[in-house]
Amino acid sequence: MRTVYVNGEYLPETEAKVSIFDRAFLMADGVYEVTSVLGGKLIDFDGHARRLARSLAELDMKAPCTEDELLAIHRELVARNEITDGLVYLQVTRGSAGDRDFAFPDPETTEPTLVLFTQNKPGLADNPAAKAGIKVISIEDIRWGRRDIKTVQLLYPSMAKMAAKKAGCDDAWFVEDGKVTEGSSNNAYIVKGGKIITRELSTDILHGITRAAVLRCAKEAQMEVEERSFSIDEAKEADEAFVTSASSFVMPVVEVDGAKVGTGTPGPVAARLREIYLEESLKAAV
Ligand code: PLP
Repeated sequence: MRTVYVNGEYLPETEAKVSIFDRAFLMADGVYEVTSVLGGKLIDFDGHARRLARSLAELDMKAPCTEDELLAIHRELVARNEITDGLVYLQVTRGSAGDRDFAFPDPETTEPTLVLFTQNKPGLADNPAAKAGIKVISIEDIRWGRRDIKTVQLLYPSMAKMAAKKAGCDDAWFVEDGKVTEGSSNNAYIVKGGKIITRELSTDILHGITRAAVLRCAKEAQMEVEERSFSIDEAKEADEAFVTSASSFVMPVVEVDGAKVGTGTPGPVAARLREIYLEESLKAAV
């Protein structure tokens, strides 16, 4: 039985409650973050806290507490649930005004809802998929136009994941105007001639915290990085492909729409980046 956090209280998961009028339940009016835990410490916490603040500001949503308080709650949950390796999920919603209405409630009288819970994932960094690589399909990107805000509107990404499963694959890459935007829950990359290529930041994609850290690591290791969009055909012709996210770190992609990428096995650039990223982020973990 997990201990979870809801609006100032640490409770057994079966006793935690949120109103049926909560804006996230009725309108998907909420934002979230997922921070990984390795060796009992939080990876890239600052990056996640900063992106949360940005998501809240972009949606005119009140922050539930300070960054220091958020860090304390994360640490308390990790300790109470004895998490060595795993994830902390955090969600902030616009709260409940006690009824359903499209208009935002008055932030003076309606407090945001803050929920956090842990997911225990022993051996998170030793996921066998990182050795085998994953297979992706492409799917049209029909999500809304503010993908830079990490909202809980995850129905289409869930549908994309189901389409991938149905096709015997692991994940889906979204394609818009002939170019890959990102993965269903990760940022997408290809490697060609030693160059790491990933879509530039805009409102079209989530500004991945792992993406920022991995690109920093790549540059420090004198690897060449090009931030531009690429097509599925280009991915099929690439030497390597991979995705990044807080929960998968750097994950090699070995097949795109049934075509082998490179040799069809995880490539050296992805393997090296995964190694450097894990090493660097463990050093900086809090
Ligand atoms: N893109 C999307 C659509 C995501 O949902 C995620 C993570 O959930 C990412 C990218 C990767 O972001 P991060 O590295 O911050 O986990």
